Amino acid sequence: MSTGTAPDAVVEFRAVSKTYPGGVAAVRDVSLRVRRGELVAIVGPSGSGKSSMLNLMGSLDRPSAGHVLVDGHDVAELTDREVSALRATRIGFVFQQFHLAVGVPVLDSVADGLLYAGIPLRRRRARASEALARVGLSHRVHHLPHQLSGGERQRVAVARAVVGGPAVLLADEPTGNLDSASGAAVLTLLRELHASGTTVVVITHDREIAAALPRRIEMRDGRVVADSTTDPIGAHG
Ligand code: ADP
Ligand code: MG
Repeated sequence: MSTGTAPDAVVEFRAVSKTYPGGVAAVRDVSLRVRRGELVAIVGPSGSGKSSMLNLMGSLDRPSAGHVLVDGHDVAELTDREVSALRATRIGFVFQQFHLAVGVPVLDSVADGLLYAGIPLRRRRARASEALARVGLSHRVHHLPHQLSGGERQRVAVARAVVGGPAVLLADEPTGNLDSASGAAVLTLLRELHASGTTVVVITHDREIAAALPRRIEMRDGRVVADSTTDPIGAHG
């Protein structure tokens, strides 16, 4: 297994590049660490490589060069099956488009976040119910997605992402489809999760959102051009 990663690094990039077929260099030689318990914004204009970074952090994609370590595991050293297990058990995702299955009640959408864990349905639903309480939706557990507001849908997506107790929650433009009040509520929720110990990475093109978060990694043309709490890799040897 991988050695040499800092024990508190949840995500580590070592000289990571991603070039898509056709030659677009979306991520260029990025090295960084996200430590356990951090709340980080990855900020930059459209096309700067933010979603590509998230896909690499979440092991949805593999780098063209360099190494990505998630929760101490070098993704390149894992089989596809092991990567799937890592993703299902250690990473929570929230996307701009909430991705809730049509016609599936809220409670079961969230319980599905535990399918990989091999937990019986009754137990999954109990944990889903707790996660929905955490996001303030105890009164909506039997609703269907189309019966919810956008802000409520995104809170369901957050509950599903955290129900398994992931090492890191990755949110790609989580407020992008929401009005400002609902967006603010989702950000408050992410802050609360962070305050209770969850490691959170928020991708945003919105400088105002980023400015409110404790660490900002700024992207331009696939490169990190600023990191508000840059800690050079190796400093903790
Ligand atoms: P952002 O999320 O900051 O808008 P992306 O990571 O989505 O940026 O995209 C970075 C660059 O990579 C863009 O030029 C985009 O067109 C390109 N890109 C993203 N995904 C793909 C893909 N699957 N195939 C080819 N090019 C892609
Ligand atoms: Mg994007």
